[in-house]
Amino acid sequence: MARVKLVNIVKRYGRIIAVDHVNLDVRDGEFFALLGPSGCGKTTTLRIIAGLEAPDEGEIYIDDKLVNDVHPKDRDVAMVFQNYALYPHMTVFDNIAFPLRARRKQLGLTEEDIRKIVVSTAEFLGIAEHLHKYPSQLSGGQQQRVALARALVRKPKVWLLDEPLSNLDAKLRVAMRTELKKIQMKLGITTIYVTHDQVEAMSMADRIAVMNAGRVLQIGSPNELYYKPSDTFVATFIGSPPMNLIPCTLVEKTPIEYTVPAELSGGILGSGKVRTPYMLECPGFALPVESSMAGKIRESGAGEVYLGIRPEHITMSLKKPGELAVLEGVVEVVENLGSELIATIRVGNELVKTRVVGDERVTPGSSVFLALDARRILVFDKKTGKLII
Ligand code: ATP
Repeated sequence: MARVKLVNIVKRYGRIIAVDHVNLDVRDGEFFALLGPSGCGKTTTLRIIAGLEAPDEGEIYIDDKLVNDVHPKDRDVAMVFQNYALYPHMTVFDNIAFPLRARRKQLGLTEEDIRKIVVSTAEFLGIAEHLHKYPSQLSGGQQQRVALARALVRKPKVWLLDEPLSNLDAKLRVAMRTELKKIQMKLGITTIYVTHDQVEAMSMADRIAVMNAGRVLQIGSPNELYYKPSDTFVATFIGSPPMNLIPCTLVEKTPIEYTVPAELSGGILGSGKVRTPYMLECPGFALPVESSMAGKIRESGAGEVYLGIRPEHITMSLKKPGELAVLEGVVEVVENLGSELIATIRVGNELVKTRVVGDERVTPGSSVFLALDARRILVFDKKTGKLII
């Protein structure tokens, strides 16, 4: 087990800055995901940790030891590549056994020990019946599993996994997420996992670094990223459907008074009896904003904001449910996902998505009311995208 630390890592390819001053501190035994869209620098970051690329700037530490000049094979890391990288002239058995045989003396293993480890790993990954075959006789998904097994048999200090499940079919992929997580937890091996699939990262990782254009935008637990995204990129990259972002403007008007019910207290509306001159004017609706909350928006200098709310924090109903934070709209599209419906509702000029659980009948064209859970409303600076509240 090991801690992995990157300090101000920069990697350029000509004019492209693939990795732009990246700092990471991956804890001992942690399952850490690098998440971001294609081309954001995830793979390059992973290859730099493995020693397959040299950074132009910055330091790499494994267990507090500077490893910039340490050869990949001496870093005690195992990497699973997106493109398998299996030895074509070896059987599946020999491919999986390779790292064990290479360190047989060091590990104190007999050939029988190796056979047992290879067979049990292959069984676990559902490839036991292919052990005698060559990689070219396997499907892409099966080859990927062999690559995974090859990295799993050895117990390296760090596992570096680059989209290891991307070639598996959807069902197996979901099953493998659970399996991978179980193995990692059991062995407690520090794992750095590259993916562009937010569900994969959210379901497996202890912490996630969200990357875009070579930079790390936010590092946090799945919950932190989901409920407190640091900016609009993270807010919309994480979650499906993504967070609703509604453009609004903070304005000062004649003060109004209202009483906030307990279930909406503590957010943008404030708590108890409130008197405020501030309103967020949004397309098709307006929301009062308690003075200290409005103060934060004004402090940031951002009058133009995005109101952010997750689809599940909006309750849709056919009858008006209350007075505060209730919008009116018309259903445009309904997607039935089985366990829930995703309804897209037009509110003013904006489209808002909400989840509808249960058997509520919603059809396109229906006029509906949307109650926002005011405690869950986030506010982002429209210009910089940064979270304000
Ligand atoms: P993907 O999910 O598509 O693999 P990624 O987030 O892993 O993407 P990288 O592969 O790290 O992204 O690439 C980051 C940027 O660096 C991209 O713009 C890519 O085109 C560029 N890049 C990566 N490797 C090289 C290379 N060897 N030569 C030139 N440019 C490269």
